[in-house]
Amino acid sequence: MRRVVVLGSTGSIGRSTLDVIERSGERLQLVGMAARSRIDLLAQQAVRFPHARIGMWDATKAEELRRLSGRDVLVGTEGLEQLATSPEADVIVVATSGPEALVPLIRAIESGKHIALASKELLVMAGELVMRLVQEHGTTLCPIDSEHAALFQCLLGIPRDHVAQLTITGSGGPLWGKYGTAWTSPTRAEVLAHPKWHMGPKITVDSATLMNKGLELIEAHWLFGLPWDRLRLVIHPEAVVHAMVELVDGTMVAQMSPCDMRVPIQYALSFPDRWPGAVPRLDLARLGALRFYEPEPDQFPCLRLALEVARIGGTACVVLNGANDVAVQAYLAEQLPFAEIPRVIEETLEQHAAIANPTFDEIVSTDAGARHAAHELIHQWTT
Ligand code: MG
Repeated sequence: MRRVVVLGSTGSIGRSTLDVIERSGERLQLVGMAARSRIDLLAQQAVRFPHARIGMWDATKAEELRRLSGRDVLVGTEGLEQLATSPEADVIVVATSGPEALVPLIRAIESGKHIALASKELLVMAGELVMRLVQEHGTTLCPIDSEHAALFQCLLGIPRDHVAQLTITGSGGPLWGKYGTAWTSPTRAEVLAHPKWHMGPKITVDSATLMNKGLELIEAHWLFGLPWDRLRLVIHPEAVVHAMVELVDGTMVAQMSPCDMRVPIQYALSFPDRWPGAVPRLDLARLGALRFYEPEPDQFPCLRLALEVARIGGTACVVLNGANDVAVQAYLAEQLPFAEIPRVIEETLEQHAAIANPTFDEIVSTDAGARHAAHELIHQWTT
């Protein structure tokens, strides 16, 4: 029996994780869960899992949740930290993309928990720091992001000096093949209708701009320690092959699985074991063809920005992530046109002088500063 805490239980990955736990029989037990602010859903989840402790990051909402659920509620970053380090937990699933999860993630690593990490944003912000702590504390970190879960599996048992190159795939997202005019003025329905994955709104917008793939390349760099010139992205509309490892002799090891996040979630929870599938199996004969294309960063300015920032590194990645988050939230709130998302990021980056190998404090202050600057830009442009 593995005892699991889920930080971010009301988001898309969090909900799928609870589903995997429920279907696991006796293998997994939920001992704690927390959300940022969605009280109704968390209250429902508390009924489904009556023995799990619950936490809420937003203190004002926590009081409401206490009334609604009649349960004790852990509050704020401190509450999340308590869950992340609780002695009764073996595995901590980190599935909240906001910077508030960074401290609980660090505390969980320091207390030797096995980490299942869905939040690529945290690795983009603090990848060097997080991976160093994972090493120092001798724990394991399994990525839940499908491409990285694929690389993690392909690399098992392969000596690092056999690896020539890592390739992640991307389906191309909602706007692939429609760019031209669609890039400047796609409808909200087009942006939010992902062809392959059903995910939360933030990552779906990131998939439309291809920022998601830029963030994933940075995530892969920190997870697997390869230099930028040995990391590659290809567009693969069928989204069946999630990643490939090319070996020095020309062999390619690829991972294929259905487009369902419950596959990488279950593996991150079962590692190093494997359990019978959580989802229907892949039928390759019915798929027919698998296609691969070279991405064109010039047609996707967010991808181009991410690739440039990846090479600068340090706090430039923190700014990229923070400004993108603010711009995407503004787009979702109908305060910013879609085509202005890269402009917010680019201009926020222009105001920043990057620091290499930032400390925790530098990461946190850069993130706050970038978010403030991006808000200011949006405010200036829209008033
Ligand atoms: Mg992914």
